[in-house]
Amino acid sequence: MPGPRLLRGSANETLAAELVEEFNTASDTEAAVRLVLHRAVMETRSDRGVISWIEGSEMVVAGCFDPVGELVPVGSRWPLAGEQVSAVALAEGRPEAGSYSSLGVDVPDPALRDMHSRLTHLLVVPVAVAGEDVAILCVSRRRAEEFTAEDGEVLDLIASAGANALRSAHLSDLLGAALLEVAAGRADAASVERIKTDILRLASHELRTPLTVLNGYLSLLRAGFFGSLSESIDRVMQILERRTAEMNALVNDMLVAARVEDPQAPTEAETLDLRILVRDAADSVAARASDRHILRVELPGEVVPARVDADRILLALRNILDNAVKYSPGGGEVVCSVDAADGWARVRVADHGLGIAPDDREKLFTRFGRVLTSANSHIPGIGLGLYFSREAARRCGGDVALVDGEEDGGSTFELSLPLAH
Ligand code: ADP
Repeated sequence: MPGPRLLRGSANETLAAELVEEFNTASDTEAAVRLVLHRAVMETRSDRGVISWIEGSEMVVAGCFDPVGELVPVGSRWPLAGEQVSAVALAEGRPEAGSYSSLGVDVPDPALRDMHSRLTHLLVVPVAVAGEDVAILCVSRRRAEEFTAEDGEVLDLIASAGANALRSAHLSDLLGAALLEVAAGRADAASVERIKTDILRLASHELRTPLTVLNGYLSLLRAGFFGSLSESIDRVMQILERRTAEMNALVNDMLVAARVEDPQAPTEAETLDLRILVRDAADSVAARASDRHILRVELPGEVVPARVDADRILLALRNILDNAVKYSPGGGEVVCSVDAADGWARVRVADHGLGIAPDDREKLFTRFGRVLTSANSHIPGIGLGLYFSREAARRCGGDVALVDGEEDGGSTFELSLPLAH
């Protein structure tokens, strides 16, 4: 029997690309699991393959592929700690081989015990996306031939290539179930928040890859790599570029919001003059504003020192300024002023736009909290900007609040930060 494919250099990349393409054709979880298992068993010359989701301290079987033997039932649960090889693979983040004779698994079901007894060797690899373990991929043999390091490499490659397809299929299953719960009115506040987190993670990560491809091709087309563009194609290109830019901004918002609520994401604090950030944010928003808008920036003469995560606060300022322009569809003046007093720096952004009804104010700073009225329903957004801005300010010891917002009378938002000494 031939050995596993030698995976070195470009051959490795070619197989990886082939696998990613193959796995991404899966339309649902069952298909994704089947495709990955089939490849895993074939490429490592195994007799059986099992994928299990990791749920806390348990593994839940997602699928089993075994052309001749009995299948491990989908949905059956196994304690992670009780199964040495998987536990080691997870802890080390790499393939781990072992033999069934030395496996410390307590198999209560006699049929399963019998099935296990006919297996000899196993090879396990964690399936991880962005450092998060999602599942375990395990292949087993019935013959007395141990798995080699090369088998481990192949399985690792298959797990990496299938990780995204598996994770997104699984997440959409979980989301589907959770949304049904919401629809049935059984979800509590905590599970609604969890659903929002899942949607954020799913949407931001899964949309980023196709968007990168789209952006790449648009730039190549614009640079003339595929020949010069006729006038009519150029018009279509402009629409595509504008729409893609909107999508980039939305996905970016989701990514930032997903990151801001990640407790492990580091906060980069540095002391700087807040006036520079405000000027930066105002310049980038002014460049995109229509000529019906006037953006006036009022800065104090002295330095306004604050200890902040510059990237996050810059994004927060841009969001607030962007909103001031966006929610003033009739145009008008937007004033952004900065002052420093009593240990606090305050950036106020006042517009003469649509305003916000008092009853709607609670909702503004929540995730996906859009306040839709007949006057603003045509304005694009997903309700993450203010949530992210407040979280970013709070991480730096400050806050964002609506300080004045009459319906039809415009709004004033304030971002406050402690002054640095
Ligand atoms: P998005 O703009 O993507 O909807 P945000 O979180 O930035 O998300 O804003 C949440 C909601 O707050 C918006 O949908 C809008 O209804 C309201 N809003 C925010 N800023 C303003 C503003 N300057 N004037 C009027 N309404 C605003």
